[in-house]
Amino acid sequence: MTRPVLVQGVTYHGSTPTSLGGLDNVFGKHISAEALRQHILWYKRRFNIAGLEETLRRARQGIKPPAKTLFIVFHDGYFGNYEIAFPILKEFGIKATFFLTTEFINGRFRFWVDQLDAALKHTGKSEITIMTPAGWQTYSLQDEKYRLEVALKLRRHLKALPVKEFTAELQQIVTELGFPALDDVPLLGKHETALNWDMIRQMSAAGMEFGSHTHHHLIIGRQTEATAREEMLISKALIEREVGRECELFCYPNGQYPSDGNDVTDAIAAELGYKHTLYMMGPYNLIHRKTFRLTGIAFGEESNERELHHKLSARRYYQRKLTGQWIWPWKKNSL
Ligand SMILES: [Zn+2]
Repeated sequence: MTRPVLVQGVTYHGSTPTSLGGLDNVFGKHISAEALRQHILWYKRRFNIAGLEETLRRARQGIKPPAKTLFIVFHDGYFGNYEIAFPILKEFGIKATFFLTTEFINGRFRFWVDQLDAALKHTGKSEITIMTPAGWQTYSLQDEKYRLEVALKLRRHLKALPVKEFTAELQQIVTELGFPALDDVPLLGKHETALNWDMIRQMSAAGMEFGSHTHHHLIIGRQTEATAREEMLISKALIEREVGRECELFCYPNGQYPSDGNDVTDAIAAELGYKHTLYMMGPYNLIHRKTFRLTGIAFGEESNERELHHKLSARRYYQRKLTGQWIWPWKKNSL
């Protein structure tokens, strides 16, 4: 393995029996069984689909990945990974890697974006007034189209806040929407629930791979070093205890370099025993024996074949390589 080999990566989140839209599926985060099947058929005609962990382990031993290797990963640990994605992957005889937010798997955590979308879905209020950088703003909630727009605005607003103000502001918004506390917001639906460790063990026994996606889905690059270390350490230990296999891969929530993960946090990951880290900055990776940092691109329910082709085209990769910008070519993805 003297020369680096191009390996491409694709990222998914949840999966659902039928197609969901609106507040149930902002940014197409949950892919339906039908769309997932179509995506995999499309990949199978063009790529060699292989497990990420297995590909990297072999690369470390100097074994070159086959030409046109593609890895598939799922972030977060939603129940649909077991209910929908797992049987489809088995049917096609392929492996994928699932990155678990371990406190979500333990059933003691909800993703704030899901809580926000669920509060907007279930609220009885017809409008909401919030403080924004432009002053007090009132937004209509009269139908789902408006509510979806508000969901996107509030995401941007909340993401821009410092860690300390974030929780208070999210709580304030939820109160404004008529729920006494965050815990009082009903679930979006079954698709918002998590995998459990039994499902994960079954999937692992069938060849699926598991890595860490932190304990509380914190944006690692914005935490103190102690918190970053703790998040990476606890989730690794839990996965190893529950799955009974070494947890070699760490995947950054939000996945942007250098804001969400960077050279400092990669060094912490290496120190804790992770063999590789994964970002979400595009599909292209040049793998060699010592490659540590990788990246995949996010696709969802709305991604059609044209998008897959456009974003995974090797011709674009070579063009970008020539212009020296090949490694982080894609727009920020806010899933
Ligand atoms: Zn995530």
